[in-house]
Amino acid sequence: MSAIELRGLTKVYPGGVRALDALDLVIPDGEFFALLGPSGCGKTTLLRTIAGLETATSGSVVLGERDVTNIQPGARDLAMVFQDYALFPHMDVTDNIAYPLRIKKVAKAARGDKAREVGERLGLAQLMDRRPGQLSGGQQQRVALARVMATQARAFLFDEPLSNLDARLRLEARTFLKRLQRELGVTTVFVTHDQAEALAMADRMAVMEAGHIRQVGTPAEVFQRPINTFVASFIGSTPMNLLDAVVRGDSLEVSGCKVAVPESAAGLLTDGEKIVYGVRPEYMSYSAGPAEGALGGKVSIVENLGASHLVTLEVGTASVQAVVPEGREPVPGDDGYALPRADRALAYRDGDLVAAG
Ligand code: ATP
Repeated sequence: MSAIELRGLTKVYPGGVRALDALDLVIPDGEFFALLGPSGCGKTTLLRTIAGLETATSGSVVLGERDVTNIQPGARDLAMVFQDYALFPHMDVTDNIAYPLRIKKVAKAARGDKAREVGERLGLAQLMDRRPGQLSGGQQQRVALARVMATQARAFLFDEPLSNLDARLRLEARTFLKRLQRELGVTTVFVTHDQAEALAMADRMAVMEAGHIRQVGTPAEVFQRPINTFVASFIGSTPMNLLDAVVRGDSLEVSGCKVAVPESAAGLLTDGEKIVYGVRPEYMSYSAGPAEGALGGKVSIVENLGASHLVTLEVGTASVQAVVPEGREPVPGDDGYALPRADRALAYRDGDLVAAG
């Protein structure tokens, strides 16, 4: 059964901003779903419209079998965690966790028991008497999570819940949240603008642009087969190489070099047509000497990524990037050759992926 279904969901704010434009989306029960996209694309609006904090201009929100489009937020059975955690500064951890139960008129003793049980599960047992101001960012985040878990919600909605944590805590929290979601099996929608976070955590994800969903898929599908050049350039910690190319028989001419046609586009291209050739820097094998089918040029920049280096080659009029394992990196001024993997390279025609099916 689907937990959340959006049908033709549109939100136009007063003043005319079309933040959501006829969105359709189905999120199955138990899924960890990430909403990803650049600033202003409509992620928060989508989450708030699911929660009922914004009213849809048209279209509908269905939770399970129930159309909740015109139902108040409190009656939707959803739990939302905000970016700033929205903890009450004057309440201790126990009362913060128990707050939604108080609203639901659960008896005081039962509330306390539930808060302690959930707090213990999230490693907060020693901190139950403290106030938010006496907690670290990571601990505050756990309190916000505990508060959500204390309610029996149909789904969790998270709006950038990790963005206030420093880099190391963020990584820890990511793993923790993922494990917790697995254990609880609660449908979770997670908004982030951090694509590494979405790739790492989500079962499936949607990439949004200007009120539209451009692609829905597993992290692997979205990373390896971006459906258009917008998604291709948005996803990936090092951006995909997107190079002008001309089809020449059974190969491509890219900036004066001859490379193999991407396997996914074999038989789908016309001789002489202009396309955009896409290949991720991670899917290049790099060598100092010439190699057949490689993009060859002069090394201009070498950036240290830790266990590897990002090498930029000037190939004719194009810049091409390749990830090179540590110890094999060149220095600027060297000749270099980047051989793309034909099984991972892609072809885009008018911005859209050329592929069968
Ligand atoms: P960010 O990553 O920066 O938080 P977002 O993807 O969550 O962005 P939204 O906050 O959903 O984007 O905003 C989508 C669009 O709607 C933007 O153009 C924004 O300026 C506009 N918008 C958001 N809230 C309102 C509002 N209350 N009134 C008018 N326009 C709004």
